[in-house]
Amino acid sequence: MPPVIIAIDGPAGSGKSSVSKQVARETKFGYLDTGAAYRALTWACLNRPDFSLDSLHQLDLEKHFEYSISLDPDNYWVKVANVDVTEAIRDSKVAESVSEVARIPEVRDFMKALTLKLVSDCEFSAVIVEGRDITTVVAPHAPVRILLTADETVRLKRRSAELSESTAASVLRQVTERDASDSKVVEFMTPAPGVQLVDTSDLNFSQSVSAVLTLIEQGLPKGLKMNEEEFLAEPVAPEFVERLQNMSSDEEESRARVLRSGLDEYDLDEDDFEVLQADEELVDGHYFLPALPVLAIVGRPNVGKSALVNRILGRREAVVEDKPGVTRDRVSYKAEWNERKFTLVDTGGWEPDARGIDKSVAIQAEIAVELADTVLFVVDAMVGATSTDERVVKMLRASGKPVIL
Ligand code: C5P
Repeated sequence: MPPVIIAIDGPAGSGKSSVSKQVARETKFGYLDTGAAYRALTWACLNRPDFSLDSLHQLDLEKHFEYSISLDPDNYWVKVANVDVTEAIRDSKVAESVSEVARIPEVRDFMKALTLKLVSDCEFSAVIVEGRDITTVVAPHAPVRILLTADETVRLKRRSAELSESTAASVLRQVTERDASDSKVVEFMTPAPGVQLVDTSDLNFSQSVSAVLTLIEQGLPKGLKMNEEEFLAEPVAPEFVERLQNMSSDEEESRARVLRSGLDEYDLDEDDFEVLQADEELVDGHYFLPALPVLAIVGRPNVGKSALVNRILGRREAVVEDKPGVTRDRVSYKAEWNERKFTLVDTGGWEPDARGIDKSVAIQAEIAVELADTVLFVVDAMVGATSTDERVVKMLRASGKPVIL
């Protein structure tokens, strides 16, 4: 079967490339950056005597443009006639001329054929193909087609964070002018029929990745699976493993007691009951349930806790809203990591001054911490420590529980 295309389109700064790359890593699918071929061709025009911007439309590109690119998101390279141009194509001179190249109809036809050939020649079962026109012209029949957008201010901000050396003016030029001239070629700000829209303006990186993964999971043809085992093979914090492995029997006992008292708060299914009944044991004249260690995930709203839960579980289950004001409780899952079983408790965002529903979310998070053996405290390193983070830290310190940041 030829590899399945998952098509992702979007304007500069929408997060298209970085999100697509991460999605490829998590699904273990291939990643094809189609913009790289346009950039590489532009690089050739600027650097090689046998190419020029003026004669591109009449050049037999199939014969003269020896292009290769890696589809492995963890080992990305781009070559023109065996010269590694991975870095060179990110040059601002290339960025400034690439739209001129991309406007030539013959180039676009060639690029479409090139993209389809790169996909059909690869070893992956599916490829995340990212770039302009992919959802419409290049792969209009792909089972999953997504348009990633973000409003212009957000895109500008992301672009300037990426291009630390560019001045604000040149960033503005890159985003607005390139988008404007590209949109003469194709409309990419509104999704074509059948293309699903993901607006990332209010999403952080991991939330954008989660949103795309959810759409892919829903749209994948039957029989094609995202690679789940690989998720579980990723390393986990050694302190956590050690803590799980070295629990004293006292700790296990008190954990059992706490869990038993809080058991009706959890959603237990048949499997749970089977396990619980099988191993019930008599301690000090009381029956105790064989409790699994409990790991609670805590952090302020929207910090990416659910993405982490999904990663640990190796599936996409943590779909509960993580916004203050949206009803949610703590949710527990059976989890396993490095052959160690434990209960994973995902909590809502912890807002210390929350009122009403938010308050109940905060209370649930505090209860989860109380019931937990270990707490995973999630922060956003890009944003830095917020005052909410600082107050969560106070709550966690007061709880006396081991905390992994
Ligand atoms: O994605 P990237 O910014 O590297 O793409 C560089 C340029 O190549 C885009 O601004 C656009 O002009 C062009 N391009 C295109 N169609 C694609 C990918 C890129 O026209 N599928």
